[in-house]
This record gives sequence, C-alpha cells and structure tokens, in this order.
Amino acid sequence: MSALQPVRGTRDILPDEMRRQRAVIDIARETAERYGYLEMATPIFEFTEVFKRTLGDTSDIVTKEMYTFSMKEGEQITLRPENTAGVARALMSGGLSQQLPLKYFYAGPMFRHERPQKGRQRQFHQIGAELLGVPKPQGDIELIALGAHILSGLGVYENTKLELNTLGDTDSRQAYRAALVEYFSDHSDALSSDSRDRLERNPLRILDSKNEGDRKLVAGAPVFSDYLNAESQDFFAAVKQGLERLNIAFELNTRLVRGLDYYCHTAFEFTTDLLGAQSAVLAGGRYDGLVETMGGPATPGVGWAAGIERLSMLMDRDPPVPRPIAVIPVGQATEEIALTLTQKLRHAGYGVELGFSGNVGKRMKRANKLGARAAVLLGEDELANNSATIRDLDSGEQELVSLDAVIEHLARYR
Ligand code: ATP
Ligand code: MG
Repeated sequence: MSALQPVRGTRDILPDEMRRQRAVIDIARETAERYGYLEMATPIFEFTEVFKRTLGDTSDIVTKEMYTFSMKEGEQITLRPENTAGVARALMSGGLSQQLPLKYFYAGPMFRHERPQKGRQRQFHQIGAELLGVPKPQGDIELIALGAHILSGLGVYENTKLELNTLGDTDSRQAYRAALVEYFSDHSDALSSDSRDRLERNPLRILDSKNEGDRKLVAGAPVFSDYLNAESQDFFAAVKQGLERLNIAFELNTRLVRGLDYYCHTAFEFTTDLLGAQSAVLAGGRYDGLVETMGGPATPGVGWAAGIERLSMLMDRDPPVPRPIAVIPVGQATEEIALTLTQKLRHAGYGVELGFSGNVGKRMKRANKLGARAAVLLGEDELANNSATIRDLDSGEQELVSLDAVIEHLARYR
C-alpha cells in the first residue's frame, strides 16, 4: 500500500479517457431522452439494507463485493454496487408510485470489491435505464431497443450479440426450480461446493456456474422452456416478436439467469468477444417483485445497466478533440490587449489559449501542441494600426484584420 497510488481497482480518468467516457454518457443520455427516459441520480451510498433486500443474501455482490461502513450512529451504509435498488428506494421514499409509469436514465460510479483486471474495476461507472409501472412485454421491447440503439450510436452494436432468455412467472419458476433441485440433488456428489450451497438457497444460479464439472451437469439439466406455463410462453413470444419486428437479432441462451425471486420473464445481455473474460456489456431484465420485496407497493419494473469503461473501450472512434484559438502577444507591450481580447473571444464562445509566458516561438510551439486551429498574433506594429494577424495553423495562410473584425474572421475556425 502506498498513499501515493490510487487504491487498487480505482483509476484516475485523465482528459483523453474522460472525453471518451463523456461521449458514451452524452450519446446514451441523448438517445434515452428520445425514448422518454429522463436522467436522474440517486446518492452513491444507501443504507446497507437497500442492497441486501434487493440483491439477496446469497448473491456474489452481497456476499463478497459490497463496500460497507458502520456509521457513528451505528447504522450500516454501503457504496452502491448497482443502481436499480436505489431507484426503487427513490420511488418509495419520493412517493412516486402515484406517477407511474416512470422512465429513468442514470449514469454514475458503482463500487464492487472484486478482482481488478482489464474491464473490471472496484470503482467503475454505469449507464442504465429503468422502466417502472409497465407489466407488458412492450416495456421489455422498448428497453432492449433503447439498449441496442445506444450501442449502435456508439458503434458498438456490430461487435455484440444479444442473448435472451425468460425466467417465466412465479408459478413457472417454482415448477422449474423444483425440477432443478431434484435433478441436481441426484447428482450432488458431482457438484462444486459453491453449487451445492446454491442448491439450497439459489438453485437457478447453478445454471451459470463457471465450474467445469457443474457445466457438464448443467448440460443435462431440465430446461426452463419445458416448465413455462401458457402465460409465460405468451409473454416471451411477444417479446421475441417485438424484437424481430424491430430487426434486433437475438440468440436464446437458456443459461442466462438471475437467481432472485423477483426477477421474472425477460433476462437479456449484450455480450462481446472483444474484451476477453469481461464479455458482458449491457445486461438487464424484468424485476416485477423488487419494489414489493423492499416493502413498497407491487410495481412491475424492467431495466438494464451497462459498464461505461467497457463501452468506452469498444467505442469505434475517438471523439473530436476541441481545437482552441491561440492568442499570442508579440512583445511585452501587447500583453494587456492580448488578455482583454482573449476574454472577449471566450465570451463570444471560442476556446482560447493564452500562454502564460514565453516568447513567440515558445507560444507557437505550445499552440501547435494543443492542436490550435488558428493563432491571433498581436504585434506592436499591427496594434499601432489597430489590427492583428490571424494565421490558419493548418494551411499557414495569414491575413491582417482590424481588431474589431477578429471575432467575425474567426468564425470559419469554429
Ligand atoms: P460480470 O459478469 O462482468 O461480472 P455482472 O453480471 O456483474 O458482470 P451487472 O451487475 O449486470 O454485471 O452490471 C452491468 C454491467 O456493468 C456489466 O455488463 C458490465 O458492463 C458492467 N460491470 C459490472 N461490473 C463491473 C466492474 N467491476 N468493472 C467494470 N464494469 C463492470
Ligand atoms: Mg460481476
């Protein structure tokens, strides 16, 4: 440990990376707004109960990954590992249940104590969308369409595939769970110890176990589709049909599960081959029982979240670096006018760099390094005639213009 290093799993985001992440957020927010999902934010910490209740005592996040602190008052708070719980909490504490349906977009930092590697950090960032109060498959379709739209806006869609599954309604899930418990109990000797644990608490999670032996057993396990009742089948069929109508391709993945009871019907994940083991890009599903689990009124919900770092790594382009105008005083006597001109240009909407010191050569060098588009050179002779030289730093062409006309002449360099 060194106090001069960032804490393991955290990073400084310097301007080049920040510009990419900002582009991800801006494109996502702008797209979300077109679908009526408005940005909101919840606090980055909540009472620990909020996450325990919603994520369940057996989830990886709750058992291993949460940053939890005891307050002086004896209360336990946790840095949010994800944002759906916070949104559901906000729905209740803000009395928003009267205003359903609600459509929210969010972006911000999340915290999970896991093993850092490329695309996996302890402080990372997510964008996400939640739709509350819509029980119909149209909600699932809209939300997946929004996710796909954002991915294509970022140039990422082509490098992902959409995996889709259904967890059915409560009855279907119970029937399936019973079948799974029976099957895996017969083979419990061959199960990993983690999965033996899950068998009692959370048998569906065995389906996405990464253990070799478990995987072999899973291959022969009962499949969910055999246990879906008619309503659940209809719901899933409607989701698939909607996606087909919108030309959003998907693959069925019966192993795509969420372990908790309030997850139902649609589960989906956009994955990629380009990020090694960190294949999940954007993941979500329907969580009709969640708000009730937290003690609120029964409220259907569906949502997704995506990792901003992973999206930034996948984004197909660098957002343009803004190119400033360089104002360059030539000689001491012109520094004052350079200062006032700089400020005037900034107020007129230009990005302007006024070097703090140095001779003309040094300032020109710095202007080039910053990628300046044009330079306004203020020499004593020019000023005697109330004018300045504007040099196009790409072509090298320059022209002498009157000081009053500088703003007008710079318009072409915006
Ligand atoms: P993974 O399987 O990679 O651990 P997850 O199932 O834990 O992902 P979710 O909880 O569904 O992920 O979160 C949604 C998205 O957030 C993921 O698809 C991923 O893009 C991103 N994400 C999750 N955990 C991290 C992390 N530790 N660092 C960076 N991004 C993350
Ligand atoms: Mg994880």
